[in-house]
Amino acid sequence: MKFIFFFRFKLLIVFNLLILLNNSYAQTRIEGLLYLTNKPVSILIKEGKIIRVQAIEKLSDESHPLFVAPGLIDNQVNGFAGISFCFAGGELTNEGILKATQELWKKGITTYLPTLTSNSNEVILRNLALLATAKINPALHGSIAGFHLEGPYISAVDGYRGAHPLKYVRKPDWQEFMEWYKSSRSNIRTITLAPEVEGSMEFIRKCTALGIIVAIGHHNADKKTIDEAVENGARITTHLGNGCANMINRHLNPLWPQLANDKLMSSIICDGFHLRDEEISVFYKVKGPDRTIITSDVTSFASLPPGNYKNEEGETIELTREGMLRLPVQNVLYGSASPISRGVARIMKITGCSLGEAIKMSSTNPAMLYGLKDRGRIEKGMRADLILFEIGDSDLVIKKTYVEGNLVYEAGK
Ligand SMILES: [Zn+2]
Repeated sequence: MKFIFFFRFKLLIVFNLLILLNNSYAQTRIEGLLYLTNKPVSILIKEGKIIRVQAIEKLSDESHPLFVAPGLIDNQVNGFAGISFCFAGGELTNEGILKATQELWKKGITTYLPTLTSNSNEVILRNLALLATAKINPALHGSIAGFHLEGPYISAVDGYRGAHPLKYVRKPDWQEFMEWYKSSRSNIRTITLAPEVEGSMEFIRKCTALGIIVAIGHHNADKKTIDEAVENGARITTHLGNGCANMINRHLNPLWPQLANDKLMSSIICDGFHLRDEEISVFYKVKGPDRTIITSDVTSFASLPPGNYKNEEGETIELTREGMLRLPVQNVLYGSASPISRGVARIMKITGCSLGEAIKMSSTNPAMLYGLKDRGRIEKGMRADLILFEIGDSDLVIKKTYVEGNLVYEAGK
């Protein structure tokens, strides 16, 4: 009897030891130069969360110092690596969404909002439902934080409409939108609309009451309308300086009032094609690092080889050798081919802002705007979404990406 008791006791000790060993194995330690200070830190991760951040004397491997920052958060991803979230075609599957996510991880994007542009009711309903199913796939580690609906309630006027097909552009319709919201399983986190379109103000109020972040974009609203939209709840301008006609009045145009309104944040595309460097410089000087978000507007053609492709309307889309994506028939840009990692490196070069400020605009700010309280900062209790990287000439060179504590990408492996 005594022997059995002793044996059981021994077993218990071994069992507890195994748990301890297992727990210590479950901890991961990451070292790098903290993006805010450029000083070495050690970050301890357990069960997907950061449990300690500690300043250290020096890195274990000083020969290859890498920066460490919170993973990037992109609020406008139409697709990536051949996968489109917007098209009616059959390629939007769980596997496709996982592939696009894995390719984004390689670029340092650990959270994103798949973005649906103006389309038919059927396609929007279907794609939102497919995305809602894919979103909970454990293999994604929570990388999809909700969806962005860009249109269809935008300006129908050429130029302001951008590449959105005219046949799908329409006035806000709450009943239609509620069907989309339901099929998204309440995952529509933001919508871009034109505030001057009839019915927009009431629509903005209703979205705001539901907790949906309203963005204004693809519009030609005057100052009074823009200010009114902000008073009703609009928080941000979608890709400021784009979704705008080429020929505008030098005094009366949508740019000045959007820049002048201090309550309005702005997202900007810093891919080298959507805005000139001096525009980025001025927008940054006006809005500053607290009210700017770096976005990509990246499409399914991103990370494909240069060449001519067809979109769903059968139109030719050209991806140039330099990485510009355009719709030649209308001479307008057709979204971007550069992830926001490029925007981070470029805005530092153009404005002289620090790495800390650039990461704030590409991770901390979007996390705050969209209520992602456990992301966008390196602190105890936050999700362990981390990137280790060098700063290249025109892009970040991502070496490792962790999502929820999992090493999901390592360069060269
Ligand atoms: Zn757009």
